[in-house]
Amino acid sequence: MAATGQRCRWESRVIRLELRHPWTTALSTSDYRETVVIHLTRDGVTGIGEGVPIPRYRESPREAVQAIDTIRPWLEGIDPWQFRKVMVGVSERMPGQFAAKAAIDAAMFDWVGKQAGVPVYRIFGLDPEDAPVTSFSIGVDEPGPTRQKVLEAEAFPILKLKMGLTSDEMTMAAVRDVTQKRVRVDANEGWNTREVALQKLRWLETQGVEFVEQPMPAEMIEATRWVRARVNLPIFADEAVLGAESIPGLVGAYDGVNIKIDKCGGLQEALRMIHVAKTLGLKTMLGCMVASSVNITAAAHLAPLVDYADLDGNLLVTNDPYRGVTVDHGKLVLPRGPGLGVTPA
Ligand code: MG
Repeated sequence: MAATGQRCRWESRVIRLELRHPWTTALSTSDYRETVVIHLTRDGVTGIGEGVPIPRYRESPREAVQAIDTIRPWLEGIDPWQFRKVMVGVSERMPGQFAAKAAIDAAMFDWVGKQAGVPVYRIFGLDPEDAPVTSFSIGVDEPGPTRQKVLEAEAFPILKLKMGLTSDEMTMAAVRDVTQKRVRVDANEGWNTREVALQKLRWLETQGVEFVEQPMPAEMIEATRWVRARVNLPIFADEAVLGAESIPGLVGAYDGVNIKIDKCGGLQEALRMIHVAKTLGLKTMLGCMVASSVNITAAAHLAPLVDYADLDGNLLVTNDPYRGVTVDHGKLVLPRGPGLGVTPA
């Protein structure tokens, strides 16, 4: 495939990221996260990428690294300038493993940007000034720690509250004790019947909430459609949306989609999803998992294209080994260096 240039060297490793606060959602609780970091070296230039294996989709860091090892002989022969063709080839050879795909894809964009001497957003033809404000996520906790987290998030104009447990009303009361700023709510599939979801959404309509993410289990699309017809609050899909092919079935049940490179397998598929969602009249949001600045910065390079951003996964970590995108009063500030623009911390 690569007519010129050297062969590619791919190195992958698992990194452990320590969380500032134990992280609880309707799905799980934990105090650290593991991600997969990949280095791609060719012609003296090294690109870096990172993917977060998501347990909900039965992915793990160990299996992601194994999957990359399995296709390594083929990967060594690719030309990263042909990144579209390469990702088609990766999909044919490596089913699933979206975190590994996201890491490979980001590493190629970092490499190409460094070779060309331009930031990745320029490869996509974007203006970094168009990047939206990001929300800052508050995990589920007792009222005291919740109030403390909200105070720590003072610099962020928009909060995203995790809900979907029995403590929802207590969480909102704790937040409203200390701030009246705009909030978004993510139920992570936590409300299991349409009656409960309807009651929760009607309550949230009175609480200064901008929209609600994934109120009901992903597969309950018809029930979500029933609820949506009875409320004014916009509803976003997260767990119900994976790649672009999952978007058309959501029309009428959801108002927008939360796109994550770790769910869909990289920047190229995320870009395709943004276009598909917009074509179908859906709002777009770029979201993330807990990750280092490599992964969050990669996603942020597409942020000028979307309506909303929730790209705070690196800010929840105490030992981020990298520096990249920053946040100024909530607004995402993209690094201007070549490639992803990420440097060691
Ligand atoms: Mg979510």
